[in-house]
Amino acid sequence: MEIVVKDLSVVYMPDTPYEKQALSHIDLRIESGCFAAIAGATGSGKSTLIQCMAGLIRPASGQVQVGDKIFHAGSKSGAALRKHVGIVFQYPEHQLFEETIAKDIAFGLKNRGITEPKLDREVHRMMDLVGLPGELSDRSPFHLSGGQMRRVAIAGILALKPDVLIMDEPTAGLDRQGKQELFRLLKDLHEKQGLTVILVTHDMNDVAKYADQVFVLSGGKLALSGTPAEVFEQYQIWQELSLELPQVSQLVAKINEQLDVPLPYSIFTLEE
Ligand code: ADP
Repeated sequence: MEIVVKDLSVVYMPDTPYEKQALSHIDLRIESGCFAAIAGATGSGKSTLIQCMAGLIRPASGQVQVGDKIFHAGSKSGAALRKHVGIVFQYPEHQLFEETIAKDIAFGLKNRGITEPKLDREVHRMMDLVGLPGELSDRSPFHLSGGQMRRVAIAGILALKPDVLIMDEPTAGLDRQGKQELFRLLKDLHEKQGLTVILVTHDMNDVAKYADQVFVLSGGKLALSGTPAEVFEQYQIWQELSLELPQVSQLVAKINEQLDVPLPYSIFTLEE
């Protein structure tokens, strides 16, 4: 399902001394079935943007369109978007609350009106989808490893049958193996289930490895967008401005400081 964001601005606590413009005039399009990444430094507006896409934060102006559902400042609620967009927040395992894995996953299924005997079958199908062995279904989710707990949380969101899956820093706190396994799962869900996946990340290496499209936010504005190769190339244009090396280095330091992301391209490792 396609997502189109038009001239989107978000303001927190408007008309108070704490007023904060978190997003300014964002325009972007995420194609259906795409694996997109949203990157940028802390405070650049990533969480605000994804919560608007999921119908959880109301735009101050502009709009978000998911499929044929539109959410704007005057909309009654974002509920129409929430039906299509599943959002897995950072450390989703903190949101697990049932005493067994099966019950946690069944919560979302029951919301969709699924009852026994289909419920049990669907719980096991969801567990299979996220790579959890069926025999764990009656165990407490709190005795699992960090990576497995996260799978339970993802299964709970998939149970709501979203067309778009948004993951906010999904590998935060996982070890190398957990991280690799989680990306394998995301790739699988994207390829085999045809889900549109939106990954929020700090890590440009993950962007380069997995994303088809990338959007880089800076100070609430869309700074760069395109395929990972295009975005990395946009940085390299600085090199072609025929600046002296010290000037380039200063520029690079400034960009790196603003974006706070390690980039795998040579321009970002230039030495004076
Ligand atoms: P990111 O996810 O990239 O770290 P956020 O979307 O969380 O960025 O934040 C964007 C800006 O909005 C930041 O300056 C942040 O301090 C501010 N902000 C975020 N949430 C709130 C809120 N609930 N109230 C006020 N300001 C907020």
